[in-house]
Amino acid sequence: MADSKLLDDTATFSSFAGVLDSRILRALADKGFARPTLVQAKAIPLALEGRDILARARTGSGKTAAYCVPLIQKILSSKKTAAQSATRALILVPTRELSEQVSSLLKGLLQYCEKDVTYVNVATGTTAHLKSVLADTPDIVVATPARALSLLQAKSLSLASAESLVIDEADLILSYGHDEDMKQILAGGFLPSVYQSYLMSATMTKDVETLKGLVLRSPAILRLEEDED
Ligand code: ADP
Ligand code: MG
Repeated sequence: MADSKLLDDTATFSSFAGVLDSRILRALADKGFARPTLVQAKAIPLALEGRDILARARTGSGKTAAYCVPLIQKILSSKKTAAQSATRALILVPTRELSEQVSSLLKGLLQYCEKDVTYVNVATGTTAHLKSVLADTPDIVVATPARALSLLQAKSLSLASAESLVIDEADLILSYGHDEDMKQILAGGFLPSVYQSYLMSATMTKDVETLKGLVLRSPAILRLEEDED
């Protein structure tokens, strides 16, 4: 990362040894992520404690790994058997392009534990194909709201055992016409009554406030912008 102001210069990822699974640490090292960015340094420990996270930090500050790392850790640390299968996390993104970026990070982070933690990007692909990949109950599903909702309604995707919900680019997700879809996903009885949420955003907008009210329970609020509201 070019901008050193975004880095937490007090720590390296190795300070998470013992907290994060060594397979995640190796994958981070392979990616060349030596030190956590500020949002990662703050969000990862809080998320590992089980806190809901509302993170506002500018584009390029490393928000994707800030939620992917604790989410993968949570799955790894509670998975007893490889046979245990249920979708544990849903990552909602506003665009297909973003779904590809998130998937590419997941792929890298999961390279040493791909048998234990699986993911699928359902933002693209035909419904028939997605139905068959979802039949294997991937641990992590990346989706746009419209796609997630249609798969939930078709019962191709079940979130009954979900533990984590991420809404990435929360400032944009309602404005791409996803408004109704988001509301139905959140209020349609698809999610369990308790789950951990992450709301990631570059700016604090009315839409983020709305989502905050819908998905967060006494969240840790991280504001990493120099300019305060
Ligand atoms: P945001 O979602 O906040 O806009 P991203 O998660 O897309 O930011 O990350 C921006 C860029 O920074 C990506 O290219 C990513 O690979 C890189 N990056 C993220 N975390 C680190 C890190 N700890 N060290 C080095 N580069 C990083
Ligand atoms: Mg992002």
